[in-house]
Amino acid sequence: MRDPRHDILFTPLQIGPKTAKNRFYQVPHCNGGGYRDPSAVVEMRRTKAEGGWGVIFTEQTEIHPTSEITPFIEQHLWDDRDLPALSHMAEAMKSHGALAGVQLAYSGINGPNLYSREVPLAVTGGPILTFTSDPVQARTMDKEDIRNLRRWFRNAFRRSQQTGFDLICLYGAHGFGILQHFLSRATNHRTDEYGGDLTNRSRFLREIVEDARETTKGELAVTLRMSLHEAGAYGFSNAELRDFIAMHADLPDLWDLAQGTWEGCSGTSRFKDEGAQEDLVRGIKELTPKPVVGVGRFTSPDAMVRQIRAGILDFIGAARPSIADPFLPLKVQEGRYEDIRECIGCNICVSGDMTGAISRCTQNTAFMEEWRKGWHPERARAKGPSESVLIVGAGPTGLEAALQAARRGYKVTLAEATTTLGGRVARERTLPGLSAWGRVADYRTGQLAPLPNVEIYRDSPLTPDDVLAMGADHVAIATGATWRRDAVARLHLHPIPTDAAMPLYTPDDLMAGRSPEGQTVALYDDDHFYMGSVLAELLVAKGNRVHFITPAVKVAEWTHNTLEQATIMRRLLEIGVEIHLSKAPEAIAAKEIVLGCIWTDRHTVLPTEALVHVTSRTPNDQLYHTTKSLDWRAAGIKSIQLIGDAAAPGPIAWATYAGRNWAEALDQPDQGDALTFRREIAALAPEASLLP
Ligand code: ADP
Ligand code: SF4
Repeated sequence: MRDPRHDILFTPLQIGPKTAKNRFYQVPHCNGGGYRDPSAVVEMRRTKAEGGWGVIFTEQTEIHPTSEITPFIEQHLWDDRDLPALSHMAEAMKSHGALAGVQLAYSGINGPNLYSREVPLAVTGGPILTFTSDPVQARTMDKEDIRNLRRWFRNAFRRSQQTGFDLICLYGAHGFGILQHFLSRATNHRTDEYGGDLTNRSRFLREIVEDARETTKGELAVTLRMSLHEAGAYGFSNAELRDFIAMHADLPDLWDLAQGTWEGCSGTSRFKDEGAQEDLVRGIKELTPKPVVGVGRFTSPDAMVRQIRAGILDFIGAARPSIADPFLPLKVQEGRYEDIRECIGCNICVSGDMTGAISRCTQNTAFMEEWRKGWHPERARAKGPSESVLIVGAGPTGLEAALQAARRGYKVTLAEATTTLGGRVARERTLPGLSAWGRVADYRTGQLAPLPNVEIYRDSPLTPDDVLAMGADHVAIATGATWRRDAVARLHLHPIPTDAAMPLYTPDDLMAGRSPEGQTVALYDDDHFYMGSVLAELLVAKGNRVHFITPAVKVAEWTHNTLEQATIMRRLLEIGVEIHLSKAPEAIAAKEIVLGCIWTDRHTVLPTEALVHVTSRTPNDQLYHTTKSLDWRAAGIKSIQLIGDAAAPGPIAWATYAGRNWAEALDQPDQGDALTFRREIAALAPEASLLP
């Protein structure tokens, strides 16, 4: 039964000419698939409709080829040929009574046009401002360009209506949308009627909202996605935003508030708590009669209700919580709180967009696999002819494998060597800033507990003979990996000469509570993700003086893809970590390290009392190989597979994916060399060659 305090989340609310059935508002979010993987995106959005969201949006939809953000893959609405894919999307979004929204974007100073090769047009010209420092400048728009831009927007409004969307979102947040560029004195240096005071800087917004109403005859709701705060002396500050809203209280049908940069908006749980934008949003509702939506990685219905009761928000905006659990609204509605799969705030989903790959989610293994592989976030396909499975190891891989196999109907035995379920997340959740990662284990252990077809054995390190004796039809070995002690990784493909007197530590040692003796500790990071900087924080908290050494030009350089790199750098500097970039140990003596420069032959000597290697991991695959060398078929076993970190160490999302992939493949007919997922290939155009 639902707690009556949560009823307010299910009261309908009007957005201009439309009415949302509840307060769950899936704000626009990228997915790394976009125009390249239309059906994958459609089915992903369909699961959100099924899961009960009141409003569902597309990702950024680029309205004209003079502004596109390749290599990031979003949606296009460039001409009528883009309509079928977007119509299909709108239809899927509305399939369970949600309102369907399209986010229209023109990126101005943010779009390098690497694909279209058009000259970028900006409010004020200058170098393109993106993650990638493209060597391209934009031209300042003249009045004719602005008239053209209004016409391109009108074309997009007409097409949005034709495709069946209910809501149009005009993008002016995260530094990505031209509306923000007009409003901000940082990006608007114009001296005509579109520049100068706030009234002038707001002119374009007033014009295009009017254009949207006129073009759609007022039949579609028009929302404004606004930057909550842009930092810097010239940035569109929170105070200016409030002035803008007070001046234009009735302009849109809804105010959608998000941070001034994507990094600021979508911070990881390591650096930002649930509801972190509250201070910037509080009081804005009093400035306008129109509904307000805001985000904050909300996963707790109590926190959501508080936002509404306290008059901060009308709608609970969510991107990541809707990715991690597309069924969040339905679960709250039905009072199934324990079934909520909470986002862990790791930003692996973001990394899919940042790398131009298709996105994945650590928690929701079905994300973007709904169409490609037919995976559903809640349901599993029926089991095949086999009856039982044994899974060895209860880390993220083993837990997900067990859960999905159990949902399919197999009799599941899960054996774990230690007394704790969770494997690496049970350890990593104790590190500074990573407590939310424990949700990977909590959700799965909570779901497994009541299932009658699951038996879990803790404190049970299995031997090869144990595996044979269990008599399961299928066996998954998910025994994880161990951090290396010899610094072998990317730079050093062989061990570094090391004096045995130097005290060496690995992340496993520190997570097990072993503290380096002495005060000065060097940490060598050739992993480049989160672990090195997290351990640096841990060591500083324990009173160590820390030298952070990396062969890269930035600390934790892969965290650029999770939007954390700058924050990590700031944190390390603030806590007094000494950073050595483009350096790596070449020889390790008893009390010092010889550091080599990556670019030159120069060397420096760094005295240290201990050294922590955060480099790479060795798969724990002995159990697998020994068992495979025995006559396992004679024990009645049909298959044995090595999965997750025990096969190939990677991020936690790779582990949960591996667990699901194994469980989904059970009893599937052998497809030979056929592709294991569906994909779409661009159709050849009927037009003849244009070559002279
Ligand atoms: P992954 O990320 O692939 O799930 P983890 O390292 O998180 O890998 O988890 C592996 C789990 O396997 C750990 O909890 C570990 O205790 C357990 N394990 C390792 N060897 C055995 C074994 N022989 N029998 C049972 N459990 C094991
Ligand atoms: Fe949340 Fe991580 Fe999933 Fe993104 S990948 S939705 S941050 S759990």
